[in-house]
Amino acid sequence: MKNQLISIQNCPVCNSDQKTHFLSCTDYTVSKKNFELQQCSGCGFVYTSPRPQNSDLGAFYESDEYISHSNTKKGIVSRLYQAVRNRTLREKCEMINARQKKGALLDIGCGTGEFLNTMKLDGWNVRGIEPGERARAAAKSNYQLDVQPEEALKSIAPASMDVISMWHVLEHVPDLHGRIEELKSILKQDGLLIVAVPNRNSHDAQHYGKHWAAYDVPRHLWHFRPDDIRALFGPRGFEVKEILPMKFDSYYVSMLSEKYLTGSVNYFGAFRRGWISNSRAGKEAWSSQIYLLRKK
Ligand SMILES: [Zn+2]
Repeated sequence: MKNQLISIQNCPVCNSDQKTHFLSCTDYTVSKKNFELQQCSGCGFVYTSPRPQNSDLGAFYESDEYISHSNTKKGIVSRLYQAVRNRTLREKCEMINARQKKGALLDIGCGTGEFLNTMKLDGWNVRGIEPGERARAAAKSNYQLDVQPEEALKSIAPASMDVISMWHVLEHVPDLHGRIEELKSILKQDGLLIVAVPNRNSHDAQHYGKHWAAYDVPRHLWHFRPDDIRALFGPRGFEVKEILPMKFDSYYVSMLSEKYLTGSVNYFGAFRRGWISNSRAGKEAWSSQIYLLRKK
């Protein structure tokens, strides 16, 4: 693992070059190193800087925890995780069907392919993009999905997708402006863009501070609030139409955060914190949120 880091000069949301120190966070899952979060003085957007160069980022995903959670149905937490995941997959599918006629769906960062497979079985014409080689191979062998590496994004036909989804992906993407341009190009004019990201305005984020698991440095490069998403996509041809909660994320993130904070597993504390976070979330302060965007 190389040590050369790069700093963000201009805020990708408002272009200001003024910033202040926000938090020092630890990479608890892979490198155990500390990384700094900076806050833009212009708009308040928070990002990880300095950060590893793009070519070095892959090394920070080399942990079995990151290759997605195991499919072995052992232990109560694992069984609960499976049950929640299956329910969440059904809910995602219903949410999309309620808003868009069946057609072509692209999932960027599709991991091992569970969401794509759910949509395929529901009658969607699906394909996936996944930078991780092991996850890509698993998606192909488990579900016979068409999954390609990130470079393939550039070869997708313009205005060919009815739905593009990025479930917890945008916070990992180094070039936000370039990615939004690609999305704009390949999405149909009446298509639906789904962007799910953690929300640093949530109660659990504020409660756990630097131990909040969804800072997840240095893999999470950007730490969005709802206003950041609107300010980033708005001038680039998209409008946020709806914000939907991801109600299980507060529990999951709190479970990891409790471990980072106290050094031990605390299911009761995590459950309590997740519940408090959801009960205070209002319209757009959920731990993680789904932004539904359309072209202007
Ligand atoms: Zn800014």
